[in-house]
Amino acid sequence: MTSDCLFCRIVAGEVPADVVASTDRAVAFRDIDPRAPLHVLVVPREHHADVTRLAAADPTLLADLVELADRVAGTECDGQFRLVFNTGPTAGQSVLHVHGHVLGGARLGWSPA
Ligand code: 5GP
Repeated sequence: MTSDCLFCRIVAGEVPADVVASTDRAVAFRDIDPRAPLHVLVVPREHHADVTRLAAADPTLLADLVELADRVAGTECDGQFRLVFNTGPTAGQSVLHVHGHVLGGARLGWSPA
């Protein structure tokens, strides 16, 4: 746990969040500013800055995030989803605790810029 990390604090229950699913290693909670009918963030309980560092340090945990995203989409919409890991500030990463955006519940456009 990193005390100045927002998502570490959500995982620890210090900052409230709408948690929709969890495992012993990962948590899924609704994004505070949803961009799609389904917009949930999947995060590991353990702090890793971004997806490349997580993949290098613990690829099984990255696979756990994908599995949790699939479970959430299967429960909350038709099971189809987009999984986005913004990596670095230029790409839009504002919270430096790896998180996958699970987006779904509607036909999604394809225009990140
Ligand atoms: P990023 O921009 O780093 O890829 O994504 C960070 C996401 O975290 C954003 O979509 C933002 O809306 C969400 N977010 C920021 N602060 C909070 C918060 O306090 N609670 C929740 N649930 N989501 C947050």
